[in-house]
Amino acid sequence: MTAPALFDLAGTRAVVTGANTGIGQGIALALATAGAAVIGVGRSSMDDTAARIAEAGGRFEAVQADLSAPMAAAGVIDAVWAEHGPIDVLVNNAGIIRRADAVDFTEADWDAVMDLNLKSVFFAAQALARRALSDGRPAKIINIASMLSFQGGIRVASYTASKSGVAGLTKLLACEWAGRGINVNAIAPGYVETNNTEALRKDQERSSDILKRIPAGRWARPDDMGGAAVFLASRASDYIHGITLPVDGGWLAR
Ligand code: NAD
Repeated sequence: MTAPALFDLAGTRAVVTGANTGIGQGIALALATAGAAVIGVGRSSMDDTAARIAEAGGRFEAVQADLSAPMAAAGVIDAVWAEHGPIDVLVNNAGIIRRADAVDFTEADWDAVMDLNLKSVFFAAQALARRALSDGRPAKIINIASMLSFQGGIRVASYTASKSGVAGLTKLLACEWAGRGINVNAIAPGYVETNNTEALRKDQERSSDILKRIPAGRWARPDDMGGAAVFLASRASDYIHGITLPVDGGWLAR
């Protein structure tokens, strides 16, 4: 057999934003284990991720950046491409959430979430595509969506708007770039045990209501997202464009 294995990422370079913890860390570890050289981009120390990947025998480097700053996402993609070489896979994972009733929701909480969760996703993808298209290189872009790309939620107005936007943007970019060698898809995690859901898990009533609705009978762990990420980063997904793939323990099936 001469063709590379369907899920083998050896020889590829993957950028994962927000790779220090949670879902980004789980995805970085999975991509590195599948053979990718992973570059984590984020504002916090990624030493823990680096140690876990080293232990698994993988390759990881960290690049510090606050992706909320104006055009920081595009800048960091350009800088990584220039300093480390071409990027084959981009996982737009960094994201935040702000909780308040819609009647009380502030403009600051609207802007903070939209700037990181939606605007930085678009401009990172655009920066990667400009380079890949001009060099005639294929690329895979994986955006992290949410159950709130499909549902309304409560008390998270800007988050729902941003994640619904991520699903729409994923389709738009797929329509523009599918014929030019770039796959754009998204993963929609269900309810995952990370910092993002800490407040929810501390609320006994909400937490037990959520758990009761998950057919798999448990919250997801960050490493549950790894398989879908490897799939969407690999040759196995070459003909998949514009999907938002739920990894939700069956939540949306209820
Ligand atoms: P998390 O809070 O553990 O991780 C968020 C990551 O984003 C961290 O690495 C953090 O450092 C990074 N980040 C935040 N602000 C940043 C900035 N300004 N610049 C650079 N990096 C920044 O939460 P998580 O659950 O792992 O979230 C990861 C992604 O998954 C987010 O997009 C989130 O919306 C999404 N998500 C989470 C869940 C869940 O249940 N936890 C469900 C669906 C989607």
